[in-house]
Amino acid sequence: MVLAGPTAVGKGTVAAHVRQHHPEVWLSVSATTRPPRPGEVDGHHYFFVDDAEFARLEEEGQLLESAVVHGRARYGTPRGPVVQALAEGRPALLEIDLQGARQVREAMPEALFVFLAPPSWDELVHRLVGRGTESEEEREVRLRTARTELAAADEFDVIIVNDDVARATEQLVSLMVDPNPDKDS
Ligand code: 5GP
Repeated sequence: MVLAGPTAVGKGTVAAHVRQHHPEVWLSVSATTRPPRPGEVDGHHYFFVDDAEFARLEEEGQLLESAVVHGRARYGTPRGPVVQALAEGRPALLEIDLQGARQVREAMPEALFVFLAPPSWDELVHRLVGRGTESEEEREVRLRTARTELAAADEFDVIIVNDDVARATEQLVSLMVDPNPDKDS
């Protein structure tokens, strides 16, 4: 399963909730060139690599997808662990950006693509600007990005509204167990 959605919608929070409450779900650990934030553990939250190492992984075909996110750091999904988790029959979750989701659709069209949506545009604006740490210009850039990202919802198999993290997580995990609930009834 691939989970994507606009900036600030709370994908990371939902993924963290899955990690905490659903140990049966295998979560992909991405490689990134961004530095770790306080509390982030190498090999657990991300594989923190430098530009040269990232380029090597890419050249060797070890990444299922990769993208520059927010015009800053590079992020990519190591292919081997995904293939192994699927071979073991484990429910596997990739929390990645929109560009990455499109690449996975090319490589693994059989995956289930889930779009995490905000309850409303106003709420997304609130979450984006709420911290008050960005400049007016930076906020404008983020809002523009969010608007184009929201327009991509149609490309996805399922849309989950992140009105409540625990509820959205349960909906997500139930789809991994039974991706076609309607067909059973
Ligand atoms: P953060 O740096 O805040 O952890 O993540 C920033 C963004 O990078 C998020 O939108 C997240 O979904 C995205 N991201 C994390 N890992 C990957 C990855 O492996 N591939 C891609 N394409 N995006 C990723």
